[in-house]
Amino acid sequence: MTKNQILKITDECIKCGFCESVCPTLPAAGYNSIKGARGRIILAQFAINTGEELQISDSFYSCLDCFACLQVCPAGVNAGELSHLMKEEIAEKHINGNRVDIADMIKETILRFRNPLGLNMESAEWASSINFDESDTILFTGDMYQLMAYTKFINYVRKYFDRNLFNAFSRLISRHPDLIKLSRHFYDINMKNKMENNLRNIVRLLKMSGVKFNYLREDEDYPGMFLYDLGYINEFKKYANNVYNKLKKLNVKKIICIDPHTYDLMKNIYPEYIKNYDLEIYYYTDLINMNFEKTSEEITVQQPCHIVLHKNNYRALDILKKSANVKLNEPENLTSCCGGPDELLFPEIASEVSYKRYNNLKQTAGKIITICPLCYNNLSYDENVIDFSDFMIKLIK
Ligand code: SF4
Ligand code: SF4
Repeated sequence: MTKNQILKITDECIKCGFCESVCPTLPAAGYNSIKGARGRIILAQFAINTGEELQISDSFYSCLDCFACLQVCPAGVNAGELSHLMKEEIAEKHINGNRVDIADMIKETILRFRNPLGLNMESAEWASSINFDESDTILFTGDMYQLMAYTKFINYVRKYFDRNLFNAFSRLISRHPDLIKLSRHFYDINMKNKMENNLRNIVRLLKMSGVKFNYLREDEDYPGMFLYDLGYINEFKKYANNVYNKLKKLNVKKIICIDPHTYDLMKNIYPEYIKNYDLEIYYYTDLINMNFEKTSEEITVQQPCHIVLHKNNYRALDILKKSANVKLNEPENLTSCCGGPDELLFPEIASEVSYKRYNNLKQTAGKIITICPLCYNNLSYDENVIDFSDFMIKLIK
């Protein structure tokens, strides 16, 4: 089935190369064509038609899943979707490659701990002094804000690691997942403080808007994004069903997501894999209902790909436009990826993409507002990059 889906996509491609003009990974990878949208399509077509087990995983794992290619393709081809299907093929056939060791490690730790780093207790620490309501609506963090401090540290250390050594280390953790828990001692303290503060800002904005909600604390499960993104579809399906059944047992009816990746996953991907899925999914910015001061400051906005290019909606931009002088770097319905999804597997590509994007945004306005923890983590080269919640909290009347 996956093979047919792949060939359906590749056969529609007319190889015009328009997608290469917007694919962020192509220039970031030194114009290595297999790390660009058209190259991925040509490589997938060749690999499926010949049945050769090529060392091809880097081409597809390095795709950011941003869907920028889809916006310009005259044939309506989505190289992001194709890359995802190829990752499914690679995971199913256990085709080895440079990054598969790391991907396998992440899979094993999620399945074992319901959290990529086994940090269930630590992920709830930010809320220790907050009282929540008895409610069938929950704040669902997806652990994204919490994980950023640890990934920042891992990437910092990785720069000094030989790649083979890192892969060997990943294989060791895959066999002994408990070792991942050591990561609790290694994080970027500034990022941890900022992210925990942003989580509390989000709670405050929602409470001030009159929203009643609960938070599951250490009982909250990581939603399984990496399993899906890395192509482990069979594992993802089982995992997502477990997450869903647990939420239903707890009588949860509505979910407030606070990052675009979790939002997209719970709103659009979960229903594809779970029968009779009936959770209502909201993005937290859409529930904010209060008055803010107006500032004359010029700001620009890093709109998340998983909202704007994945055809989701949110109200965050409208709120910002009412409160500040917003100058965008591109039309409202477009954006450019921050490089975040490549941070773990391709840190060198992620930093090239993020630095280019940061510079483009910086030339547009003095302050850059992010609405996603991944964007914040990747673009925060200086203090003028600010999370939406942090920016808005300072404008409360
Ligand atoms: S995916 Fe679309 S834009 Fe890219 S080469 Fe194929 S037809 Fe052209
Ligand atoms: S989804 Fe993004 S990174 Fe992937 S091929 Fe398309 S433009 Fe390139």
